[in-house]
Amino acid sequence: MFSPHISLQKFVTDGYNNYKSIDLGKKIKNDSSTKCQVGMILYHKDKQIYAPKGKTGSGMGHAEMSALHNMIEYCESLDISQEQFAKNIVSGDFKIEVGCEEKSCCVQCSVVLGHFNAVAFDFDTVKCKKTMLGGGAWGMSQKVKAVLKYIVQFKNDKQTIKDHDLNAFCQASKPFFDTVFNVKQGKPNKP
Ligand SMILES: [Zn+2]
Repeated sequence: MFSPHISLQKFVTDGYNNYKSIDLGKKIKNDSSTKCQVGMILYHKDKQIYAPKGKTGSGMGHAEMSALHNMIEYCESLDISQEQFAKNIVSGDFKIEVGCEEKSCCVQCSVVLGHFNAVAFDFDTVKCKKTMLGGGAWGMSQKVKAVLKYIVQFKNDKQTIKDHDLNAFCQASKPFFDTVFNVKQGKPNKP
């Protein structure tokens, strides 16, 4: 039977696997650090058009999501719509490079960056299969969500992710991702 939506499982694994960076798996680099600066460069046909900086704690969620939000907003100021932004990502006309050296990108940011076809700038920019919720809930702006949904739709023959599933993804915690990636629990949970 035809389903107009991709599964949440597929959404997470496709995104994570597609983020071109070194995979730390279950390890985390520097989760204790609260500061995190992310450099993100947007190229249009190999020409650099924007290099915003995002900061954790600026009110837009994790630094990676804050940087993506600013990038989309900047493109809107150039009359590039959210739909066109997504088309450019999928066609390869847009390319995003991420530099985040102080700590690893968390699982949620890595999934989203993967859908955006992002590539790590260097070997110090790494991804991991862990949530990093020390600073509170994870989230992304409406603009990032909207572009993400277009991208998923263009890549998956018009099937996108249900809002309900996307919200579940935003609010998911460690057990959810452990299940998705089939990561074995090493130790029993202590109270
Ligand atoms: Zn993150």
